[in-house]
Amino acid sequence: MIPPYLQQIDGVWWLVEDDRDNLKVSYRIKNVIFSETSSFQHVMILDSYDFGRMLVLDGAVQTTALDGYIYNEMIAHIPLLFHPDPKNVLVIGGGDCGVVRELAKYPELETIDMVEIDQIVVNAALNHLPEVSGNIKDPRLQFHFTDGVQFVKEKKDAYDVVIIDSSDPVGPAEQLFTSEFYQNVYQSLRKDGVMVCQSESPILYAPIMERCYNSIREIFASAHLYTATVPTYPGGLWSFTLGLKQSGGIQQRRQLATPTRYINRGIVESAFHLPEFLHRGGQTPMMLMR
Ligand code: SAM
Repeated sequence: MIPPYLQQIDGVWWLVEDDRDNLKVSYRIKNVIFSETSSFQHVMILDSYDFGRMLVLDGAVQTTALDGYIYNEMIAHIPLLFHPDPKNVLVIGGGDCGVVRELAKYPELETIDMVEIDQIVVNAALNHLPEVSGNIKDPRLQFHFTDGVQFVKEKKDAYDVVIIDSSDPVGPAEQLFTSEFYQNVYQSLRKDGVMVCQSESPILYAPIMERCYNSIREIFASAHLYTATVPTYPGGLWSFTLGLKQSGGIQQRRQLATPTRYINRGIVESAFHLPEFLHRGGQTPMMLMR
């Protein structure tokens, strides 16, 4: 059966991403490379005209060959640069494997755990989306195919860095945006621990970003928003929230020293300079559309 988000219009196939009632984003599609319904979601790899291959979950584009590296580099490298000596890293979600591919560039990491609820996403990305996953194979990388919410509950003082690379807060990812979950992430981190999560669009989903930031700020010694522009994500401008366990404010502990396509030393610094609407009165983000 053809899902409602794959539509043929005048003989041309489109993926129509239904972001909200008044916003639908359409991508012209060349081919369906992979399509399977898992216990959690409908997983597709599509080949599109302008964005190349893309991972689509329940009709929502997660990452593409064209710009996936921007998001993945911004969420993977930055937390490592704010930790003095990272050895053990946990990724929650991240099924397209773009984040673990970036982490594998750091020889100083001893273990990389990735807890992804849906093995079908990982297999699809490894087999059909090499532009993002790089077909990653690394002896330090261990996959755990289970719910990240439960997994992290059982970990205490286990990680230096936790990266939450989740899909939007619906279905199994909803819990990945709650205070209780961030509290468990805090406990899973060691003394100098650093966490980061994708905190949605500051333009179109400001309330989610604000909730995320405020919860992390209440639990961690400090929280810091940074942004990048990712063409694939509705609104373009995307936010990330960094949570630091150690008090003393934000301090970059190491310099970027790995090959990358997007991030560089200047971007690491400038990403924390926020637009005016996010940065009124110190570190408090303001909602644009209140
Ligand atoms: N970078 C992408 C974005 O922002 O749209 C998302 C990356 S990745 C594809 C998100 C992954 O989170 C999905 O593969 C999904 O299966 C996984 N996920 C959702 N809820 C989860 C949970 N509770 N535990 C572990 N993984 C989860």
